[in-house]
Amino acid sequence: MRTIRTLLLCAALATMALLAGCASGGAPTPLRMYALYCGEIQIPDVSPWSPGFNSGRPMTFSDNCYLIRHGSDWMLWDSGLPDALAANPDGQGGPMGMRMRRTKTLASQLAELGVAPEQIKHIAFSHTHADHVGNANLFARATLYIQRPEYDAAFGAEPGKYGFNPALYGKLRDATVVKLDGDKDVFGDGSVVILSTPGHTPGHQSLLLRLPKTGSVILSGDLAHFKENLDQRRVPRFNFSKEQTLASMDRIAKLVQSERALLWINHDGEQNATLAHAPRSFD
Ligand SMILES: [Zn+2]
Repeated sequence: MRTIRTLLLCAALATMALLAGCASGGAPTPLRMYALYCGEIQIPDVSPWSPGFNSGRPMTFSDNCYLIRHGSDWMLWDSGLPDALAANPDGQGGPMGMRMRRTKTLASQLAELGVAPEQIKHIAFSHTHADHVGNANLFARATLYIQRPEYDAAFGAEPGKYGFNPALYGKLRDATVVKLDGDKDVFGDGSVVILSTPGHTPGHQSLLLRLPKTGSVILSGDLAHFKENLDQRRVPRFNFSKEQTLASMDRIAKLVQSERALLWINHDGEQNATLAHAPRSFD
């Protein structure tokens, strides 16, 4: 069964001219993903995320990090809320009455999987808000993949203007930085592809994984915060660009169809409750 799946994957990827390894008849590099619990955010009134709708409706956002093993390499996608929050069961208040919590640190979950932060060679964030780069400073030895407009906003003169807090990610200034001007096939074999999906922030990005057994999965970051917003094309009032957000939503919706991909919406608590988290994994 695995062989058939492998052949199918190779054929599909070869068609897209994205996979060199399969053409030579070699087996694809094993790929595995873990979803890690990276906090939760209580929102008393979710209407700012869906202007004109959901007035007074509370919602709890999930927040995940995703650990990816490609052969012997480790990559981390998003780093969640700061681990320091775990010291306070009440968490911390934020804008718009939100309350951010995490009951378990990212560091402890990596340790349970036998992975030290220094072993993470590749790191990328959907974007630079605090609930995604909360532990970024742990990974200053990794190679950072970031869209050029996001880099310019995060490391420029006015990061606060975009809602970014450099104290959380400032050490990455010393990391090896790969500035992107669009999509990036991280390992060159089509299995892990960063997708440019701007709009929520200037350089927001999503991640396409082509897993050998699970199939394609798209991690859409904050392209939309929950499924209803994506289905109805509702754009939070505080997004960087409504037009770019809508174009990115259309792009990902088409890709979900063409890839027959699963779409994982990071903050959709309802969907998140149906996903297996580490130590379970997706191959
Ligand atoms: Zn977020």
